[in-house]
Amino acid sequence: MTAAAPAASPAPPQVLLAHHLRQLKLPTFVREYEKVAAEAAREGLDHVRFLLRLAELELIDRERRMVERRIRAARFPAVKSFDTFDFTAIPSLNKPLVLELARCEYIVAHDNVIALGNSGTGKTHAGLALGLAACQRGFSVAFFTAAGLVHQLMEARDERRLLKLQAQLAAVKLLIVDELGYVPLSQTGAELLFEIFSQRHEHGSTIVTSNLPFEEWTSVFGNQRLTGALLDRLTHHVHILELNGESYRLKQSKARRRCATQPADEAAPAADPETGEITTAS
Ligand code: ADP
Ligand code: MG
Repeated sequence: MTAAAPAASPAPPQVLLAHHLRQLKLPTFVREYEKVAAEAAREGLDHVRFLLRLAELELIDRERRMVERRIRAARFPAVKSFDTFDFTAIPSLNKPLVLELARCEYIVAHDNVIALGNSGTGKTHAGLALGLAACQRGFSVAFFTAAGLVHQLMEARDERRLLKLQAQLAAVKLLIVDELGYVPLSQTGAELLFEIFSQRHEHGSTIVTSNLPFEEWTSVFGNQRLTGALLDRLTHHVHILELNGESYRLKQSKARRRCATQPADEAAPAADPETGEITTAS
């Protein structure tokens, strides 16, 4: 008879602990417990306080991970906040209203926000910053350009998954539709977009940015009746942000040209202050 193979030595407790903590989805516990244990020993903390400290670290990390996940899911073209927004550059914008909106109570109330103004005045920046604030406060967000959203809706319709996409768009707490008005929509496109706004009406918040005043929205939707019905829904509970003024980029490039002492900027394209024509300094 041959001797039984020696039993495998049990895994060290650290290995088992790390395995169990991962199963329990506590990655910060795994990463931090040895460090916190050493701290606790140094400071003479009891077991309860040691666990409390770890649990607090896990919660802080979990919140951060969830915000990051919401930001990724929103598909922002860039992450921008009001920290980098210069309110003095756009005096027509109601700053107290914007800061109030950044607290996101309008999302709880299912109100909408419409940002209107000419090109380059910070509408997209403001939309992105409101979207980021919403992610940070725990709301799901989806960002689209109007043309991109219509394209996705048409594609979904052709592939017979429109209902699924509509349900996803209806479920998101904040939908941001940027650049309504740059491209006129086909009749089908206009109807599909109308349906989205309609489905969200009083169930979720929508932010729309547009370079066109309301009177000209008919030219985008190509149909007065549809535009009327859409405006009726969108503006039922709405906060309007007016961003009318000079393009921020144009103003910046003018300032750079005035500041001729900065050689590093000389090669940057700049707009002629009179004609707005883009030239490159040689
Ligand atoms: P719009 O969407 O109205 O055409 P954007 O939001 O795209 O304008 O703004 C153009 C560029 O200028 C962006 O890079 C944006 O971050 C910047 N910008 C616009 N307004 C401001 C502002 N008031 N403060 C800081 N940056 C601004
Ligand atoms: Mg824009």
